[in-house]
Amino acid sequence: MPADAGTITRFAPSPTGPLHLGHAFAARFAWERARAGAGRFLIRIEDIDAGRCRPEYAEAALADLAWLGFPSEGEILVQSARLPHYAAALARLREAGLLYPCFCSRADVQREIAGAAAAPHGPDGSPRYPGTCRALAAGERQARLDAGLPHSWRLDMAAALRRVPPLTYREAGERHLADPSGFGDVVLGRRDAPASYHLCATLDDAAQGVTLVTRGEDLRPAASLHRLLQALLGWPEPEYAHHPLICGLDGARLSKRNGAVAIAALREAGFTPGQVLARAG
Ligand code: GLU
Repeated sequence: MPADAGTITRFAPSPTGPLHLGHAFAARFAWERARAGAGRFLIRIEDIDAGRCRPEYAEAALADLAWLGFPSEGEILVQSARLPHYAAALARLREAGLLYPCFCSRADVQREIAGAAAAPHGPDGSPRYPGTCRALAAGERQARLDAGLPHSWRLDMAAALRRVPPLTYREAGERHLADPSGFGDVVLGRRDAPASYHLCATLDDAAQGVTLVTRGEDLRPAASLHRLLQALLGWPEPEYAHHPLICGLDGARLSKRNGAVAIAALREAGFTPGQVLARAG
């Protein structure tokens, strides 16, 4: 990646449905930060979850963004075309002894947690993995791998934290303590998808030369985990900016589920891009 002057931002939709006003707001936030920093705005399609993503939504998202006035100012990165890169990053972590295979199904994890005295939850709200497969004997682990049992790859969080100095992340010019420990042994290689959001997004931000990661404040805790991955894998450190989430009339975060109006529907109803963006807050 050539050295770039200015602030490089990106908007990274997952094509699981049509873009709505919340997306327009987020894209504009990234676009304006790139303008303010005399840099470039890039688009990335986060479509590794084949079960939920559809190519027609990706195409529609690109059309919506161009119509709003936010075209990508550089190559559009499509995650489903980058699987070898994610596999290589997982291999590096595995060779460094920082990943272990986890054979637990979601139901197994839930059962373990239900039986535990305390069930801590990670910053993303999901129950923290109790570490069952971390304790597997090496021989048993290998036998299960050799038998081809379905598995994910989890980060050994305690081991990972021992490899790096105390980390911080930078937001609005200030340094904040990065504390990824709350994620526990987070899944980086999924059993139902080639890799996890955290691994792919962090790698791709580095690959796209992103210097300012902008996203909703619901994802603020992810900055801590992404800093850890950057430190472990020697990737550059971007700055972070988190924007508020737009809420629907019911006060809940705007989403397809609570009837967010698709940008395409507004366009078809005769609204101009300026009018749509004015509604996006
Ligand atoms: N694909 C993610 C989403 O739609 C983007 C998260 C990010 O910007 O890192 O929520």
